[in-house]
Amino acid sequence: MSSERLVVVGSLNMDLSVTVPRLPQPGETVSGADVVRGAGGKGANQAVAAARLGAEVRMIGLLGDDALGGELRERLALEGVDSGGVAQLPGVASGLALIVVQQDGENTITLSPGANHHLDVPALDNLTGGTVASPADTLLLQLEVPLPTVLAAARAARGAGALTVLNAAPLPQSPREVLAELLGAVDVLVVNETEAAGLLPAAHAEWAEQARALRGLGPDTVVITLGAEGAVAAGPQGACAESGFSVRAVDAVGAGDAFCAQLALSLGGGTPLPEAVRRACAAGALATTRPGAQSSLPSAAEVDALLDGVTDAAHVPGAAHDTDVPDTADGIGLPDAPHDTDVPPHETNEVHHA
Ligand code: ADP
Repeated sequence: MSSERLVVVGSLNMDLSVTVPRLPQPGETVSGADVVRGAGGKGANQAVAAARLGAEVRMIGLLGDDALGGELRERLALEGVDSGGVAQLPGVASGLALIVVQQDGENTITLSPGANHHLDVPALDNLTGGTVASPADTLLLQLEVPLPTVLAAARAARGAGALTVLNAAPLPQSPREVLAELLGAVDVLVVNETEAAGLLPAAHAEWAEQARALRGLGPDTVVITLGAEGAVAAGPQGACAESGFSVRAVDAVGAGDAFCAQLALSLGGGTPLPEAVRRACAAGALATTRPGAQSSLPSAAEVDALLDGVTDAAHVPGAAHDTDVPDTADGIGLPDAPHDTDVPPHETNEVHHA
């Protein structure tokens, strides 16, 4: 893959997880296994995902001046992410997620956003010197840092001619006006089913129809991820649906981040929407095959291998791209449930405007 340039403005956290026999009740103490530390935060996860997928990545964000901040910075560097736009704020704690996991996977998470919440618009200006992105860059945003900052970053990057991609997660309850402005300032919106329903409460029977309706809020392209069932998308050329890749999923953490990073890279590089969604689904699927957030993120070679296996086994290249079907939701079948074979079955349904 060519080396696309991606800028991520977003959160960085340290995740501290303890596995316990059962979750404690209020006031109770339960002993668990040793602490597992993992770098996290949607911003950092997507930055690392993009770097592993072959992009040149610059991260903009804030850490505390504590030991965790130093460690998170080092981990970014080890992944080859340019952390020149990440500062450590004196007297502030780094973002921290305290995760308690019951043996059956049920968990509780307590999040302390720490320095991430200090990323206001003046801080963004300081970190970027006023230039968030260059015309050839793709900007990838999430919602774990203050909304006005995300809006300012989107406007600056779009003003410079960069492609702006927003993963609207986690979806804030308020202020809706700023969120509405933000949706009008991005080119590509990526949401999961819950977020898609949260943005447009009048949910449509078909997810592809919901994606099309979400375009009405501003973004040119909308992608809705559907877990094991893949994703649907709607863009100026029409809608498409991509069935999920059949993999042995062990932990869905990181799947959405891998998906967003790959989608942003592909679209930034000019890949057509159906192909970009397909590659993003492969990246998301691979992230479910290993536990953890950043530890589960796949490389470009792994994505290529999964796609090649599929192409050889089941995909008929080009056929879907030539399909000339009226652009109606009825014409888009949602992907079949994944099969339980090792060769991932695969299907792309593309629908063009008539
Ligand atoms: P989020 O974690 O943000 O809710 P999803 O669960 O929809 O996101 O996952 C993102 C993408 O990862 C999906 O669109 C799909 O391509 C892939 N994915 C997720 N879970 C699975 C799974 N069990 N099997 C195969 N692919 C998956």
